[in-house]
Amino acid sequence: MKRIRYCQRCDRYTLKNTCSVCGKETIINTPQKYSRDEEIAKYRRKIKRSAILDGLNERI
Ligand SMILES: [Zn+2]
Repeated sequence: MKRIRYCQRCDRYTLKNTCSVCGKETIINTPQKYSRDEEIAKYRRKIKRSAILDGLNERI
């Protein structure tokens, strides 16, 4: 099973040993639980931001 790797410079996930965007060597992703929480946090921020843009920023 492939490990997901991470580019610290671009804040991107990839399966490659080097980042396809900046060419920097990627690192093995942080433990699954942490990354999942991080993804959820990003997702929630994104929802919140678009909700604010829509003027629906209450109760998120
Ligand atoms: Zn990169």
